[in-house]
Amino acid sequence: MATPRTDARVSRRIAAIAESATLAVDAKAKALKAAGEPVIGFGAGEPDFPTPAHIVEAAVEACRDPRNHKYTPAGGLPELKEAIVAKTVRDSSYDVPTSGVLVTNGGKHAVYNTFASLLDPGDQVLLPAPYWTTYPEPIALAGGVPVVIPTDETTGFRVTVDQLDAAVTDHTKALLFVSPSNPTGAVYPPEEVEAIGRWAVDRGIWVITDEIYEHLTYGDHRHVSMPVVVPDLRDRCVVLNGVAKTYAMTGWRVGWMLGPDDVVKAATNLQSHATSNVANVSQRAAIAALTGDLSAVAEMRAAFDRRGQLMHKLLTGIEGVTAIEPQGAFYGFPNLSAYLGRPIRGRTATSTVELCSLLLDEAKVAIVPGEAFDAPGYARLSYALGDDDLGEGCRRIADLLAEAG
Ligand code: PMP
Repeated sequence: MATPRTDARVSRRIAAIAESATLAVDAKAKALKAAGEPVIGFGAGEPDFPTPAHIVEAAVEACRDPRNHKYTPAGGLPELKEAIVAKTVRDSSYDVPTSGVLVTNGGKHAVYNTFASLLDPGDQVLLPAPYWTTYPEPIALAGGVPVVIPTDETTGFRVTVDQLDAAVTDHTKALLFVSPSNPTGAVYPPEEVEAIGRWAVDRGIWVITDEIYEHLTYGDHRHVSMPVVVPDLRDRCVVLNGVAKTYAMTGWRVGWMLGPDDVVKAATNLQSHATSNVANVSQRAAIAALTGDLSAVAEMRAAFDRRGQLMHKLLTGIEGVTAIEPQGAFYGFPNLSAYLGRPIRGRTATSTVELCSLLLDEAKVAIVPGEAFDAPGYARLSYALGDDDLGEGCRRIADLLAEAG
């Protein structure tokens, strides 16, 4: 009788994947709410607005069209690829051929496909922290090694060329770059984007640049696309994007990657065996989003801008709490370390994981501990929630922390 090769039930590679901490916090908050608890959830990274009506209408129509009931090309509807090309020229002046576009099941899937297509075992990826909780997992799944480069408030959570240079080895294949950033909200100024892009070109390092928050910037902060300010990077650059944040379409699951033809072709082959085409109805909705104007985005941005300011004021008004001003995306990232090691209602949190758990139990407020982003001492609060909840939630945090001994 054949003996099993190993008695592990789940493979080592998959067993090593951590649950998404942000989704876990959101799920816990939603479950408590469903059970009647007055929980305010700052956990999810999604706009509280509904998808604009003209996009929903396009999807309703698409449901009735039998063309959308069938398989379509694995890499995306040609009309959607055209719309992505046109949108990219419109929004960031980056001009790519349709052969350089792969439509994916959300931005997350674009992250996965990109690392799976670029990395060989042992390849290192420079990953400035605090980083979005998803990035390390597809790097590791592809056999790659995330090389974490810490940043903090003192540099506005932006990595420097010197830091990057110090982290490079013979095995460095790529840099993961994201601006505006999840979780910190930091936006890199154009000259820093350019300096990092030039450095990558000089070093022969790929850049994966996540532009999903490109439209959500505040004050004087603006998004610039790295391969536009450094055209020499084009051949070693993958741009990630999607409709989720810009058009309040998190549930529709449409994202994309833009890259050199060989990488996009390889990623399309992978996708053709994994998921095939993204649901056609969602793709049609995305066409309506991308070919429409940006007025709904402007309205959402104005609301996020106001809420971000309010959150910043309320949180930094708490004794000992510091945070950078909102620059982009829709996240506050306060430093809560002043409250570690101090008793609150008989419990003493020694980590932000414990502090966030205390806040959920005692103040009924769900926020994501910095540990989820490799930044202990901090926490992430989304300000993509209604004004009333935002104000009330921040007040509850302030009141509970005021009890600290
Ligand atoms: N990139 C970043 C930086 C994000 O914050 C997110 C969503 N949290 C995504 C990509 C992926 O978004 P989606 O899969 O919903 O398109």
